[in-house]
Amino acid sequence: MESNYKEIAPLMMKLKPCVALTGAGISAESGIPTFRSKGGLWEKYDPMVYASIETFQEDPAKYWTIRGEFIRDYDTYQPNKAHLVLAEMERMNLLRHVITQNIDGLHKKAGNKNVTEIHGSLRETYCLKCSQEFIAPHVPEGLPPYCDCGGVLKPNTVLFGEQLPQGALETAYHESTSCKLMLVIGTSAVVQPAASLPVLAQQKGAKIVEVNIERAFPGADFMVKEKASIGLSKILEQIKKIVEL
Ligand code: NAD
Repeated sequence: MESNYKEIAPLMMKLKPCVALTGAGISAESGIPTFRSKGGLWEKYDPMVYASIETFQEDPAKYWTIRGEFIRDYDTYQPNKAHLVLAEMERMNLLRHVITQNIDGLHKKAGNKNVTEIHGSLRETYCLKCSQEFIAPHVPEGLPPYCDCGGVLKPNTVLFGEQLPQGALETAYHESTSCKLMLVIGTSAVVQPAASLPVLAQQKGAKIVEVNIERAFPGADFMVKEKASIGLSKILEQIKKIVEL
């Protein structure tokens, strides 16, 4: 079904607090390219090669080539309106949890407290030898950078071919299977296991509201075909109208 804010807003009020699953699309308006962005980083570097654990083990410089710049410019990337709306929804008790595939840390920067970063975060980097932690943007120079102890540094992200952290996965499953409404925002819904979360939510009876510039989750009950900043703002606007009645 195409977007109908007047239907979605009362449903969110009725089924609150909801859970949000987010992907790279929500950060596109913060200037961070998605896998499919035209002219973006990923046209040049195949993520399945550059962001795989096999490649990192063979040649960590490859991963630092694609991620080093973001880590060192960490403070310049800021949440956009879509992240800020989700933070406001959490404060209004409309939203109880954000499950994100993103590794940019922008949900936490926006003020959301209950965030599960299932693919980890570029904010933290650690030494594979002595476990010393570095917080972005404060990471030693070098491609790849090394710790004083001589160990190579690895950002705390889940690479292709690596297991997701068990605790994060359990939280994601728990939140997905116990919510009554899930917002699925800016994800192509192809990377597993994240892609299965809305399916599980729906099997347990939750309604799915997708916010994306193109349909990616055909099973969604409602489709808001807009940029995340616009779609989420309009939903919140409608909710505020109801609250003020
Ligand atoms: P994806 O790149 O496969 O898909 C992005 C989706 O966002 C698409 O469906 C696209 O239509 C949609 N989109 C693009 N711009 C949008 C906008 N302004 N508003 C709403 N939707 C928009 O992303 P994915 O599904 O998250 O999977 C990619 C994987 O890559 C994830 O595992 C993630 O960890 C990683 N990744 C993360 C970042 C980040 O942290 N910001 C960026 C790129 C890739």
